[in-house]
Amino acid sequence: MVMAKTVILGAGYGGMATAVALEKSHQPFTIINKHEYHYFTTLLHEPAGGRNQFENYSVPLRDVLHRAESEILVASVNALRPQENKVVTDSGEVDYEYLVIALGNAPEYFGIPGMQDNALVLRSLDTARQVHEHIENTFKSWQEDHDDTRLRILVGGAGLTGIELCGELAEWMPELAADYNLPLEKIELINLEAAPSILPMLDEGLREEARRVLESKGVQLRTGTAITKVNPNQVELKTGETIDAKTIIWTGGVRANPLIKEAGFEVDPKGRAKVNEFCQSVDYENVFVIGDSAWFTGEDGKPLPPTGQAAEQMGSLVADNLIALQNGGSMQAFHFNNRGTLASLGAEVGVGSVKGIPAKGVSAALLKEATKVKYLWHLGGLRMLSEKRGQFKRKG
Ligand code: NAD
Repeated sequence: MVMAKTVILGAGYGGMATAVALEKSHQPFTIINKHEYHYFTTLLHEPAGGRNQFENYSVPLRDVLHRAESEILVASVNALRPQENKVVTDSGEVDYEYLVIALGNAPEYFGIPGMQDNALVLRSLDTARQVHEHIENTFKSWQEDHDDTRLRILVGGAGLTGIELCGELAEWMPELAADYNLPLEKIELINLEAAPSILPMLDEGLREEARRVLESKGVQLRTGTAITKVNPNQVELKTGETIDAKTIIWTGGVRANPLIKEAGFEVDPKGRAKVNEFCQSVDYENVFVIGDSAWFTGEDGKPLPPTGQAAEQMGSLVADNLIALQNGGSMQAFHFNNRGTLASLGAEVGVGSVKGIPAKGVSAALLKEATKVKYLWHLGGLRMLSEKRGQFKRKG
């Protein structure tokens, strides 16, 4: 059986999982992606914080999708037209019979004035590089004017993204101080979190451990501190206080790609398209929606949070469902296999839980490294693992 024309939008964790599974089943598809590479979104804090080189965090799509029937179109999707079975890209319109929307997320700014214009974000390889270069250039310039706000970094949000980034940046600071002859004691890395605690998804003991580790590395964690406005080089807090800093990074949350809502899909408040148990859009039965784009209600009646592991699992399932649907077979319902949550706090320490078992310190960091190995293996076996081995060592 050869499948009807299937188009996958996005080559993140979800889109790649669908594409890899379809290739394994010898089914043709077109995958449309903005870049000719797939990058490892959940690891962006590592190169942003200088742990090692950026090239270790992406892989050309052709290195993973080898078959000639696997068509790769490098283009930006500008609009979805589900009524016409079309997507509009900057390289023209593309028709489909089946569509998989795996367009990932966009920053959630909560309408905070000035945030979008005045803060950096960490959501792609390009933005991770911007964060890295911005900090390096800003620190470098301190010698010219001795303006101490150059040495202050503000990170807004203490979810997994903000905390992992702080852990990484903290380890980079002594290196930067040595490279550019800067006073280490003047460097400030401040995390501002509106909620009463950091990492609300973890148990209290693990949250306290994360706080202890980060504070020992010099990170200032200010919880119960909401950012209300961002001016150029300054944040305003709910308390009325202002903090000046030449580096402001926003990790305050994510929402779905806006194209989904614009196309008229039924969406949740985060702009994610409602799907049934098969990850199939409730609006169009030839459209599947996965990962951060999908509003999937779990067995506990709660919407599934946007994570890489959910995206990957949905992607593989949807490949099977596409084949079943066209083969007269029955589709399978999605059941999220929660493997746990691990946050790195720098290169060699972490915190989290795996299958309900808490992990901290070096063992959590090692477990996190194991998830990288597993992912690379899944993508491209031993060859991919050896090509990307730079991920596993600190540069220098
Ligand atoms: P998040 O929504 O989990 O955390 C954002 C944090 O910003 C929250 O704690 C929130 O209280 C805070 N915040 C919001 N508005 C604020 C304000 N005005 N001032 C100060 N703080 C404010 O976002 P995230 O960390 O980007 O994570 C997004 C998703 O990606 C989550 O589902 C997460 O689990 C997943 N993720 C997973 C990993 C991992 O598994 N290691 C890593 C990164 C992200």
